[in-house]
Order: sequence, then C-alpha cells, then structure tokens
Amino acid sequence: MLIDELDIPQWAKDALRERGYESLYPPQEEAVRRGVLGGRSLVLATPTASGKTLVAILAAAKHLDERRGKVVYLVPLKALASEKAREFSLFEERGFRVVTATGDFDDPAEHLGRADVIVATYEKMDSILRHKPSWLRSVSLVVVDEAHYIHSVDRGPTLEVLVTKLRRALEGAQMLVLSATIANAEEFQRWIGAEVVNVRWRPVPLKEGVFTNYTILYSDGSTARVRRAHGDPVVDMALETVDGGGQVLVFVPRRRDAVSTAKKIATFMGGPLGLETAVTTVGERILRAGEVTELSRELAAVARRGVAFHHAGLSYEHRSIVEEAFRDGELKVVVATPTLAAGVNLPARRVIITYLYRYELGFREPITVFEYKQMAGRAGRPRFDEYGEAILLAKSSEEAEYMMEEYVRGEPEPIRSKLLDSQLLEAHILGLLASEGPMTQEDVEAFFSSTLCGVQEGPGEVARHVSRGLRFLVAHELVAESGGRYRVTHLGRRVAELYILPATAVAIREMLSATGGEALGELDMLYVVCSTPDSVLAPLYSRDRRLVEERLREHIWDLRMPVPEEYSPGFGRELQVWKTALVLHDWISEVSEAEIVGRWRVEPGDLQAIRSCAEWIAYSAGQIARMLGMHEAFRAFDKLSRRIRHGVKEELLDLVSIEGVGRIRARALYARGYRTREDLRRATVEELMRIPGIGEKLARRLVGEA
Ligand code: ADP
Repeated sequence: MLIDELDIPQWAKDALRERGYESLYPPQEEAVRRGVLGGRSLVLATPTASGKTLVAILAAAKHLDERRGKVVYLVPLKALASEKAREFSLFEERGFRVVTATGDFDDPAEHLGRADVIVATYEKMDSILRHKPSWLRSVSLVVVDEAHYIHSVDRGPTLEVLVTKLRRALEGAQMLVLSATIANAEEFQRWIGAEVVNVRWRPVPLKEGVFTNYTILYSDGSTARVRRAHGDPVVDMALETVDGGGQVLVFVPRRRDAVSTAKKIATFMGGPLGLETAVTTVGERILRAGEVTELSRELAAVARRGVAFHHAGLSYEHRSIVEEAFRDGELKVVVATPTLAAGVNLPARRVIITYLYRYELGFREPITVFEYKQMAGRAGRPRFDEYGEAILLAKSSEEAEYMMEEYVRGEPEPIRSKLLDSQLLEAHILGLLASEGPMTQEDVEAFFSSTLCGVQEGPGEVARHVSRGLRFLVAHELVAESGGRYRVTHLGRRVAELYILPATAVAIREMLSATGGEALGELDMLYVVCSTPDSVLAPLYSRDRRLVEERLREHIWDLRMPVPEEYSPGFGRELQVWKTALVLHDWISEVSEAEIVGRWRVEPGDLQAIRSCAEWIAYSAGQIARMLGMHEAFRAFDKLSRRIRHGVKEELLDLVSIEGVGRIRARALYARGYRTREDLRRATVEELMRIPGIGEKLARRLVGEA
C-alpha cells in the first residue's frame, strides 16, 4: 500500500515523501484496513520498530486536517516525549503547534489550549486532568504509546487509570493504543473496547541464539563459531560484530558490571580501527556536560574508544549523549543495565544478554520472558542490518538448554495490572474525585472496575480495595462523605493537584502539626522532605552509618526530628532517610557534585533523581503548610524547594533565577560583588566576561536582561 494512495491530506503525503516514506509496512496496512483513518479505535500490538509511530502520524493528519480536534500523545518517559515531538515536526511545517508537556505537576496547563499536538508523559497528563483544563473536550485523538508499561508497578496503575478516565471524558474520541506484542490481547480488547491488531512482523528479521563454548546455537537449529581472540566471550562477540561494521548492545544486570564490561571491551578497541580520532568528540561532549566526576571521566575515557556504559547512575545529559552518539554510529558498543531495555529505542546489529536474573533490594530473581523479548527485540537496525542477532550467554550446556527452552522459545507472559499491588490506588481514588466531582461508593467502584484491573481481577476484588482506600482518605480528612456521596476536601483537592501520594500529605501534615507550624532548621526540613513514602532515597552502604551519625552529632542540639536509634524498628530506613537529607544538605550548601558523589557514593543520576523529587516534595510541604495557615513554614519550605532546584545557599536565589545562571556562575558573580539582578545593572559586558565561566554571549544577555 503506497502512502500516495492513502486517504490523508496531500500536504501530509508530501511531507512524508520528503522524509523517505513511500509505502506502508504490513502492520501499518493492517491498521489502515481496520479503519484507523476512519476514526476507528485500535490496539496496535506489534514488535519494536514495526512502525507504530507512523500509524499515529497518519491518524493525526486526519484529525488535524478534517476534524479540527487536538491530538494527545502519551509516553512513559521524558526522553521519549522529545523524540516523539521531533517525529511530529511535519505538522509544525504546516503551521500546527506541537508541544511537549512533561514537567511541573501543579500547573493548570491552560496554555496547552493553544497547542494542536500535545506530547505528554502519563503522569503529566493525569495531573492535567486533575486541574480540569477547559480544552480537554476538544481532544479527538488519544495515542497511548508503550502501553505494555501497564505491567510496571510504578507507572502501570497511572497509565491504566489515565486511559480509563480519558475514555470516559472523551466519548467519541479515537483511541490508538500502541504496545509491544502481548499475549493477552483479548483482555485489552475487552478493556478498551477496541479491536486488537496483533502482528508479529519485524522490519529486520531477528535471529535468537544461545552462546556456549564459543559456539552460538540459533533457534532455527543452525550454529556459528565465534573466533576466540581475547578469551572473554562478551569481548570476542562484541569485537566480531564491530569488525564486521555493526553495532553492539550488551545487557548486564548491575551498574558496576556495565562499567567494568565497557572498560574491558574498550581495552581491545581503538588503534587498528582508527576510532581514536573519529570519536574523540563524544568524550569531549561528555566532559563538557555538567560538573566533571569520576564517573564522567571513566565514561569519557571509554567513549574515546567507541564504547560506552549506560545506567541510571549517569546523569540525564550523559545518558542522552550516549544514546545519540550510538544512534549516529559514533559509538560502536553500549553496555547497559535494564534501565535502557525499558527506555528509548536504540537498535543494534547484535544484542548480547549476559544475565537472566535481576537484583532487587539484594534479592536475585529471574527476569520474565517479556523482559527478555524486549531486550532481544532491539537487535537489527533498519536500513543498516540484513538481520539482527540476540544472543544469550550460557555458562554450561545445561544452562544453554534451559535458556533456549524457557526464554528463546518461551512465550511472553500476559500483561497484568498492578493497580491493587501499589500505593497508587488511594492516590487515584482521590484524583478521580478531584476531577469528576462528588461520587457514590458504587460510582467509584464502577470506575475502577472498568480498568484492565477490573477485567482481570473482577469487580468484587476491586470493590474491596476501593472501599479500604475510601476509608483511609476519609479518616485523614482528604475526602468527606455526606448523604452517601464522597467529595474531596479543600486539602484533598490540593493534594490531588500536587500529585503526591495521600500518605505523603498525611505524613507532612503530622510533622507540621507536631511542630506547631514553627520554622524548622534546614536539616529538619530536609528530613521532613526525605521521610515521606514518595521520597527517592540515596542508596545506603554499611560505611554510611558512621558518617551519618557523625554528621548528625554536629547538629544534635538543633534537631527536632528523631535521629535514628539502633534496635528500633526501621533503623535502616531512618539511616537512609537521614543520609538523603544530608546529601541534600551538602547540595544546598554548594558542595560540588564530585565531592558529594565521592563522600556519599550517590552517582550523578541518583543525585538528579533525589533532587527533583525533593524539590517537589518541599514545594508540596510548603503548599500544605499554607493550607493549614502556617505561613512561616510555607515560606521556609518554598525557599527550600528553590534552593534544592538550584543547589545554592539562600543568598544566591536571586541570581540563579536568571536563565543560564547555575550554581557555579552565580557564585562567581556573587564573589565579584554582583549579588542581585539589580547589581547587574551596573555591570558592563567586558567586566562580566572577566568572570570565569561567563562568555561574551551570556555577558551580553545578563546586561540586557538586567
Ligand atoms: P515502533 O514504534 O513500532 O517501535 P517506530 O515507529 O519507531 O517503531 O519505527 C521504527 C523505524 O521505522 C523508524 O525509524 C521509522 O522512521 C521507520 N519506518 C516506519 N514506517 C516506515 C515505512 N512505512 N517505511 C519506511 N520506514 C518506516
């Protein structure tokens, strides 16, 4: 089926032709045959890289052109939001507005009323619904990308509730649900009420195999010998592919395995391939992005040889550089932890999977066939590779047999709802009441029974959990009941808008009440922020205990929050909460990132995650204090939130509010006597350029802005 034959506007055909699209892939044809261009809702469950996005683009072209409706495109990750917005840029050429919505949750998002295509993360869209934007009714197409995320404990419940809410709020709108191939398609069909297109076609054929004793046995029965050059199977398999002009992805279970494996491979790369000069720039880009730490130095060193590691300890910027450089072919090998497996689309000719176990909270558990298939499915780069290869590494022939039977020949598990396993049910009951107004218990139960969870668990089980959730919310005065109807209280509405867990709000309120709204010291406030169920905590190592206790002893006379006591229940978690508070304390005292990383062994990616969560909770604590009439506490938490955002002492808050001025430049300006925006009025471009870290462009802007 040719693009030219499709029933879409001519300008869209032209734009697609310009981008190299001529004909449809088989799953795309199937979607068109099933009426996707006529407004039919569909669940498109096909493998990675089978072209799901184009189906969404075709449908969007119809909506924008003819129905004058908005398009909402939902993704699980911020990084994917920008990727998708780029793919939708053809609409911008035609004058439509494509925007991403990923940040701040406490935002009514009325400005999105002017957008035509909104690419949002699940959580952002859910939070937008709680603010009831006036433009919602003009949405006519909802695309839900990566819908298999339903199985994730953290993100799945929100996705499920969001889709259910949108289906109710937007009657008549087209729903396009995109997912990896799923085993229980008919359950999705029952839930969404849309037909499922479950096609296993891939643009590049995939060969799956198991490696033992330098031989790969493929699932089709064929075998291949791997040349033993360096004695390490992963190194030898990686180099074989790189020598043949391909790229390699290696999956390992832990961060430290990623670093050590990347180093090992890098040792044997370089020289003969002439990569040294070609890829120096990736290393340079890494060193220039953010403060230099031990980890970024290691990453830059291997990147110079065309190899990189990728895990959640890397900063967001470094992860993006690695992804982009791999996509551009500058990097030949990426060694990644499962974070990448669940993330952005990075195909490679050969995917090597070195483990079938995951480590969680110190426990080892086998990964699912679904997860294995997600990793394996990344093999094969369209246009570059004739076929892709996914290879599992076995240590013995027994293990090889097991891997072949259980994983390679295995069927992915059905996707199961996690709505009842998580703390998120209460939050979503509150969210529902906030966006829909007063409801009876039966209404609330009916809503949750119409989720995938309702389909899978049955209405009785759902009702039991809903009833417990409502009791919790009423007991804590976030919801009130009268005449058989439940509605949010003022505080409950605010909590729903702030998008924190009800249990977090309850914990914050209790701590604020215990101190009578008096201003707390910095460290105490950080404790409040770090001790909630929403808080992201720093990893705790055995040697941390001494350090935490030592640091707390310095402040012992000022602290009002409880310090950890040995033998008391929850001692370990309390230590971890205090450790996180101390990490943040260093951060807002302007300790350098490299020092924080060294002292506390929190990697830059962890620090980013801790910071952005803490900033949000501090802001929320301020808002809750305000609702309780505790104005001093409100101001203190609000200031703390801004300090966490920028990593500065209070005196720099004015300077860092200028765009392009971070903690380091602000400190340099301050040291030269420019302490406020006002002071910058007196400055000249030449004077500012003498300050380290300030170039001509920034200097001009600073003077201009002041
Ligand atoms: P999925 O969402 O299914 O993982 P994508 O939509 O990201 O897959 O598509 C994978 C790649 O295939 C993209 O680079 C896309 O440009 C390309 N592609 C999709 N459809 C076509 C087509 N009909 N012709 C040529 N290339 C296509």
